[in-house]
Amino acid sequence: MTKLTDKQATLCVHAGVTPDATHQAIMTPIYQTSTYVQDFPGQPKTHDYGRAGNPTRDALELSLAALEGADHSISFASGLAAVQAVAQLLKPGSHVLVCDDVYGGSGRLFRELFAQYDIEFDFVDMTTAADLQACFKPNTRMVWVETPTNPLLKVIDIAAISEMAHAAGVMVVVDNTFASPIFQSPLQLGADVVLHSLTKYIGGHSDIIGGALMLNDQDLHERLRFIQFAAGAVNAPMDCFLLLRSIKTLAIRMQAHQHNAMNFALALQDMPAFSEVIYPGLASHPQHELARRQMRGFSGIVSVRLEGDFARVARFMQALQVFSLAESLGGVESLINHPETMTHASVPEPLRQKLGIDSNLLRFSVGIEDVEDLISDVSQALASL
Ligand code: PLP
Repeated sequence: MTKLTDKQATLCVHAGVTPDATHQAIMTPIYQTSTYVQDFPGQPKTHDYGRAGNPTRDALELSLAALEGADHSISFASGLAAVQAVAQLLKPGSHVLVCDDVYGGSGRLFRELFAQYDIEFDFVDMTTAADLQACFKPNTRMVWVETPTNPLLKVIDIAAISEMAHAAGVMVVVDNTFASPIFQSPLQLGADVVLHSLTKYIGGHSDIIGGALMLNDQDLHERLRFIQFAAGAVNAPMDCFLLLRSIKTLAIRMQAHQHNAMNFALALQDMPAFSEVIYPGLASHPQHELARRQMRGFSGIVSVRLEGDFARVARFMQALQVFSLAESLGGVESLINHPETMTHASVPEPLRQKLGIDSNLLRFSVGIEDVEDLISDVSQALASL
């Protein structure tokens, strides 16, 4: 199936899924097992142990690889477990360039765990790709890109950075969580490894934690799979099944998210209470032209600055009725998040200040409800202040 088409809506429904060999069930069974019986010692038929492999996970990985147009995919227990596996490729003495507005949890893992193994991380603004050249050192081994970034929605030029990094023999990893495979294909733009938190758009229903890597290089795939096998961060068969089900609607969900987010951002732009509305689909976004070139859609996250002190901002969030105040994003239901006190609380204060992740910044994950209800919800919450 994966070779028959490159149309994503079709791949979402079919890739990786073949009728079950025993009963012809159209849905991939949940192989809820930890081990597999062997007829002869050391000669398993297909699988030997659940940490090493599981047929439901195999189907999920085929589906995920097809969505990113990759030769290989490895699925993990969480997005951060996938981040950790990639970072475990690094040897002591390595240097890594990380985009400054990286997801708070990824930054925390780099700063607080990997830095203690003599790996150096520099957090730099990558929106002007040309400026990055000066940041490479002789021991730079990896460039870590997230685009659009979380929560400021900066857009980074994957092709330009990949070209620059490869000229220096450096690997490029792109966290594609915010765009989803539907709207951005980093491997085709030159990246070496793509990462997703499956918890977000791919899972899409706020009921699963998961992560994935997609890549083409066979040797790198074997090293990453060994890391997962040796360290054990696999996802459960039931979660793999639910993710396969979620993926079937990924293409249409993403269209709904982006339709709503675009209209939501345009409406909020006309509300004087917001001093800034940040959405890559708006002409006012500083990297709008790059986003148009690099992405097939602008996805579903809108960040804003609401005027007033923290008490006012908090009252606004509490007054919302359709949006729920919660961490995470990418589910069918709309969420509001306050990065400074929630998702990005672990970012060191000076960096938060430099980036502008302050008490006025809010991040909306725009769901697939009727967009008129989402806009009305914001209006009523503002009116209540
Ligand atoms: N990458 C991005 C861009 C994220 O937003 C997140 C979580 O919010 C992660 C990675 C980590 O994923 P998980 O929460 O599934 O571990």
